[in-house]
Amino acid sequence: MKRSVSALKAILSYPTISYSNRSLMDDAIFEGCVNALSSHYPLIFSHAQIFTFHKHTYLFHLKGKYSDKPLALMGHYDVVPVSKTWSVPPFEGHIQDNYIYGRGALDMKGHLIAVFESVEQLLESNTPLLQDLYIMMGHNEETGSDEHDSGAEAMMMHLKNQGVHLHCVIDEGGDFLDQKHLHVSEDIHVIGIGEKGYMDIIAMVNDAGGHSSTPPNQSALVEPMQLGVYVETHKFKPYLNPAVKEMLKRCAPFASFPYSLYYTFPTLFKPFIFQSFLKDRKLAAHIRTTAVTTMSGGSSSMNVLPQQGWINLNVRIAPHQSSQDVFQTLNQHKGSRVVLKSDFANEPTKISILNDGVFDMVSSTLKKVYPHMKLVVPALMIAATDARYMHDISDHVFRVCPFDSMKEDKHTVHADDERLSLTSFEKGIDFFSQLLSAFVL
Ligand SMILES: [Zn+2]
Repeated sequence: MKRSVSALKAILSYPTISYSNRSLMDDAIFEGCVNALSSHYPLIFSHAQIFTFHKHTYLFHLKGKYSDKPLALMGHYDVVPVSKTWSVPPFEGHIQDNYIYGRGALDMKGHLIAVFESVEQLLESNTPLLQDLYIMMGHNEETGSDEHDSGAEAMMMHLKNQGVHLHCVIDEGGDFLDQKHLHVSEDIHVIGIGEKGYMDIIAMVNDAGGHSSTPPNQSALVEPMQLGVYVETHKFKPYLNPAVKEMLKRCAPFASFPYSLYYTFPTLFKPFIFQSFLKDRKLAAHIRTTAVTTMSGGSSSMNVLPQQGWINLNVRIAPHQSSQDVFQTLNQHKGSRVVLKSDFANEPTKISILNDGVFDMVSSTLKKVYPHMKLVVPALMIAATDARYMHDISDHVFRVCPFDSMKEDKHTVHADDERLSLTSFEKGIDFFSQLLSAFVL
């Protein structure tokens, strides 16, 4: 068995599950996983200066001749829990029909091993590094956002305090879009160049409660629900953010008429672009803030009036707005008894710089490895990744998927029978090897 496959099989065997309740995270499992990694990749562990944060987050620093344009390859080795309905063992690195199965195969132990394998091969070849190289391996990405011990944030703060400015950061989160979404002739591989913000807002009413046979004019759950209905019937206004503009401009040569014209001059044809984007929920999320009711609560019995009625609104904030803007808007439209509360918000990130050749270096490397990927475009990332912290110390933070089999197997991420094609895995290693040549050699 190839070292890369054996390494991936080994680390998939450790159930490094992330829990918001940190006491449930088993230190021995995380340590075992890192030991398995070090036994497969001894040169990285012996050559790099290693820093740890919050016990299990690792930052590897390999010194180059120069430190002015460091490259950072980022990832996380925690995973989400599994259900009982997997058809193969989820923590064994089960191999079948040219696929390796396991929780984390795509998200994102496969990606991490592709990074380690390419860097170890580079060290084995004794080629001196021209630029500094960092490998960042977080241990609580899946649950880090609402806690205060994010490994990725700690790594960022450490580098920031050292005055390090990363030339380029590559993390997970690239996506695939079917050609039909944008009326183009090729499927689209998307590189995330910035992220929407995230916020949960609880809308709550407290009431006296009582017997449901004698209800008051308005019971406690109705007013929060009215706000829930309001946000779905009065959606946030669309906005042409720079990430979307760039995405469209690069799609223009592949688009059918009249979209080719719209995409070439997006500002001029904004109304048409909005019209077509808003028909497609995936695209609509690229151009506006979204808010949706995800949870609600009332009384605990069918014939009891609620003493407390509440809903949770999950909000994803577009780059032109802030959590404060959204909170204020909702505050203006809530009922008089409703109290809004938000314990936690991530603001939208900056958008990476695109016109200075760094993005093109990453996208052309991807196209070299996958010649059939003709359309690699920048886009806003809808979900949250650890890469969002790195915009503080880098102008080029890119979320890339190095595996083209992700397109077919994306539905297995955070779901049953997560799997990575071994052919794609090889290509992913090749992608990182070529990226290293382009950036640090
Ligand atoms: Zn992930």
